[in-house]
Amino acid sequence: MLIDGHGRKVDYLRISLTERCNFRCQYCMPEKPFSWVPKENLLSFEELFLFVKVAIDEGVTKIRLTGGEPLLREGIATFIKMISDYKPDIDLALTTNGYLLGSMAQSLKDAGLKRINISLDSLKVEVAAKIANKDVLGKVIEGIEKAIEVGLNVKLNMVPLKNINEDEIIDILEYAMSKNVKVRFIEYMENRHANAELRGMHGREIISHILKKYDIKAIGREGASPSFNYRVLENGYEFGMIDPHKHDFCESCNRIRLTAEGHLIPCLYFDEAMSISEAIKAKDIKKASEILGEVLKNKPKENRWSEDDENLSTRAFYHTGG
Ligand code: SAM
Ligand code: SF4
Repeated sequence: MLIDGHGRKVDYLRISLTERCNFRCQYCMPEKPFSWVPKENLLSFEELFLFVKVAIDEGVTKIRLTGGEPLLREGIATFIKMISDYKPDIDLALTTNGYLLGSMAQSLKDAGLKRINISLDSLKVEVAAKIANKDVLGKVIEGIEKAIEVGLNVKLNMVPLKNINEDEIIDILEYAMSKNVKVRFIEYMENRHANAELRGMHGREIISHILKKYDIKAIGREGASPSFNYRVLENGYEFGMIDPHKHDFCESCNRIRLTAEGHLIPCLYFDEAMSISEAIKAKDIKKASEILGEVLKNKPKENRWSEDDENLSTRAFYHTGG
């Protein structure tokens, strides 16, 4: 079992398969970065799998593939199958912007993917295009519908932003209700890479929008999930709020992150990381496991998210995986 320096059980590994992306979301990667991590520095799927086996053998029970846009990484279905064949009962999930999902959902499901989170910030063509800097809505909706059709367990993610999509909080909630899938509203997390003019919304502001139309009941956090859940009283529909600005957010944190070039990152907010790349390339499993132990020992107690410019996280979401 993996335990961090603050006594928290860590059983969830998030792997960013690529920092590249086909969207330019204002809150994540508004501009193409000055340079990408060179392809030769990325760990291959075989190399990533060596670490995945270490993590599973030491107690990881949940793996999420993310990015950047993970569906841009060629051969992803084969990687999913490698993990799923090694540990069929692993909780294997993926986060995507949905753009390429229409044609890939079936092969991902067949490879052993169980759950998929799809980002959906707007149901208006122009607003979705303004956020992603590309005409994306039609393909994203097609991806969501296909994922539901092939039987993946689908969740939607929305990042509400002031004066951009805040008037669509209820619309997105009702779209998710109509599809019978869960939606999670994510507080905008300020960072140095985002468009500096964006203003996010706190969980309580998002809730006050929802209260204009629905009576809801707070249910609480589900295990180690970062999502605080609510129930709509009139129909029992449940949705979530991911609210890292709240101080109890980190108390049950059970996750660790691995980037495509092999940096193990203990916390989304901070830059600190240790590289397993050399150990993995040398097939030195013992060393990789020692580095994992070291990173866990140094996992911070909590993030420092605030709107205050001095504490702006320098971590790029597209690099670390959101
Ligand atoms: N490209 C995929 C996608 O967009 O779903 C996966 C990677 S993305 C970094 C993962 C999640 O992080 C998305 O749901 C996205 O909305 C969220 N995200 C990115 N930047 C964020 C920010 N500054 N604040 C809050 N959520 C953010
Ligand atoms: Fe790409 Fe996802 Fe970041 Fe948007 S949030 S730019 S889709 S990685």
